Amino acid sequence: MQTTITNSVKIAADFIKSGEVAAFPTETVYGIGANAYDEKAVRKIFKAKGRPADNPLIVHIARKKDISVLAKEITPSAKKIIKEFFPGPVTVILKKNEIVPGVVTAGLDTIAIRMPASKIARELIKLSGVPIAAPSANLSGSPSPTNFIHVLRDMRNKIPCVLIGPAAKFGLESTVIDCTGKYPVILRPGSITLEQIKRLDKNAVYQKRTGKVKSPGQKYKHYAPKARVKIVKRETSNVKRETPNVKRETSKVKRETSNVKRVKEAYIGLTRKFARDFEVAKICKTIEEYAKNLFSFFRECDEMGIKTIYCEKVPEKGIGAAIMNRLGKARGKK
Ligand code: AMP
Ligand code: MG
Repeated sequence: MQTTITNSVKIAADFIKSGEVAAFPTETVYGIGANAYDEKAVRKIFKAKGRPADNPLIVHIARKKDISVLAKEITPSAKKIIKEFFPGPVTVILKKNEIVPGVVTAGLDTIAIRMPASKIARELIKLSGVPIAAPSANLSGSPSPTNFIHVLRDMRNKIPCVLIGPAAKFGLESTVIDCTGKYPVILRPGSITLEQIKRLDKNAVYQKRTGKVKSPGQKYKHYAPKARVKIVKRETSNVKRETPNVKRETSKVKRETSNVKRVKEAYIGLTRKFARDFEVAKICKTIEEYAKNLFSFFRECDEMGIKTIYCEKVPEKGIGAAIMNRLGKARGKK
């Protein structure tokens, strides 16, 4: 399949209107979207990504008034979140209306709704004239794409259109919040934190996965690079390496061989002293920068053939909860 790569929102909207899929930028990660009311079009998303059919999609809207078309009831807990954080990197779960085909919600009686802050994304939805069902634009299981190069790498020749735009501002998927009950329950942490939601409702909680899976996407190994992901603690004075640290060699030839060894491992985190033994390292100044760079670093490491990525553990508060969630999934912890 030939892929049209364009920066024209109109061209991308024409693909959506004709029952096709198009990848597009948002402030969280790039998405791959189709008309949420068109079952056949939505199936194309699952096929292109290799996404399991039991993993529901988020429906993206451009106007708040569309929420009442998609959902049966806007609960008081949803109202507060929508007022404060729409448009933005937050998804609310509500009881769905019949108009939404079951393929979008993987047969659940609930629907995930988000209004992106990205103007390009909202323009695309407006021009398409329908809500857009869209998961992240990566092959299922891989790190989410945070720029259009990542999208092309995974989706070129698999989908007919890629709308190109800026790199994602947050670089992490939206915070998914179940609003069907009395108080908000965070099912997937993101850039909008539990602490921020608690300011709206002090009873809000983050439900780490227990027994029954409420957000099906959270049960899979996910966001994973080809390299092995290892989580390292700040307290450890030295990162325990698989390949022993390479001694400084005097002869040039020897240095070259040792360089080959060292480049099999990489580091991402906040602590500079951890990074010094690695030739490939990303030292992030803030936790937000860590979140924003995580997936693109994973992808860069894979391009370089790195075998192990050491990722610094961070406290599970604020956006740290989202980073630890993604790292846990990326190393295959279920
Ligand atoms: P993605 O857009 O690829 O980040 O995936 C969407 C995420 O939203 C997945 O983790 C889904 O499990 C979650 N999700 C979508 N719809 C629902 C729903 N009705 N209830 C709970 N979680 C949902
Ligand atoms: Mg995804």
